[in-house]
Amino acid sequence: MVVWAADIGGTNIRLAIVRRNKIVARTVIPAMAPLGLRAALKRMVGVWTQLHADPRITTEKISAIGLAIPGIVNPQTGQIYPMPKGKFADAPRLFAGPLLQKILPVAPFWCNDAHAALAGEHRFGAAKGAKNVVLITLGTGIGTAVMLDGRPLFGAHGMAGNVGGHTTIDIRGAACLCGNIGCAETRASTWMLPELAQGISGFNGSSLASLPLIDFENLFAHAAAGDAAAQKILNQCLHTWAVLVCNLIHQYDPELVLLGGGIGSQHKAIFPFIRRFAKQHSWAKWPLDIRPAMLGPDAGLIGIAHLAALNRGRVR
Ligand SMILES: [Zn+2]
Repeated sequence: MVVWAADIGGTNIRLAIVRRNKIVARTVIPAMAPLGLRAALKRMVGVWTQLHADPRITTEKISAIGLAIPGIVNPQTGQIYPMPKGKFADAPRLFAGPLLQKILPVAPFWCNDAHAALAGEHRFGAAKGAKNVVLITLGTGIGTAVMLDGRPLFGAHGMAGNVGGHTTIDIRGAACLCGNIGCAETRASTWMLPELAQGISGFNGSSLASLPLIDFENLFAHAAAGDAAAQKILNQCLHTWAVLVCNLIHQYDPELVLLGGGIGSQHKAIFPFIRRFAKQHSWAKWPLDIRPAMLGPDAGLIGIAHLAALNRGRVR
């Protein structure tokens, strides 16, 4: 079975052709989110078609289309709810019906991107065999998804477990783009790093001040090189992630906590801190596995392709 899979982010869209659960072709295109999801889907179909035209990739017809998006999707109806930050503003009107039929060759299966990544890790990666799992993706923002008793958690609208990044960590904290205050994302995510750096005492004398871009790669590097401002920011990020992990442990009682995304799976230095913090501060006084996700940026693609294939013919 051949599936067109997309992991649609606010900055980039990862596209793949997945055949029997293996990615046989892939590419990344800019999301251009302010132009809307409809425009993005049209470009995506063009790119998939080009990938598909190569006979070395596959000559089979596509059977399903899976679309993972950075927003809330109701698993019963396929309804997409408005996303914060004004990205893909047309998404809630698009999720079904004639508009989509004009763009896509088969009806798509929609899913939240963290749910898709958890499905990928559960079927093929680090959560194989586990029944109670919290996945946290640390990247541009913070995504979360939860599986309880072997089933993904959805709630009344599909939001359950999905907005861990927007739980309040600091009640006197900064306003978040989502409308809430002091969200985990406002204290420890890539989109907020430049503002966090500007606000830290000693920033002007810091080696970070000369960088054209402050991201976690250079934050970790400058902190390791002894820059005091970088160490302060990193310390805040580590504490925020650790508090978030504790909160999620208390809410969902997982046996396994996976950290994925660009930062979570790459910086192994995060894990000793979070494990120590969780042992000290959480109620979980039993063995609890906190470790990196395995599939990296492929988790969402593999997961959404798997879900789209499973739900083929049953899509809303
Ligand atoms: Zn928020």
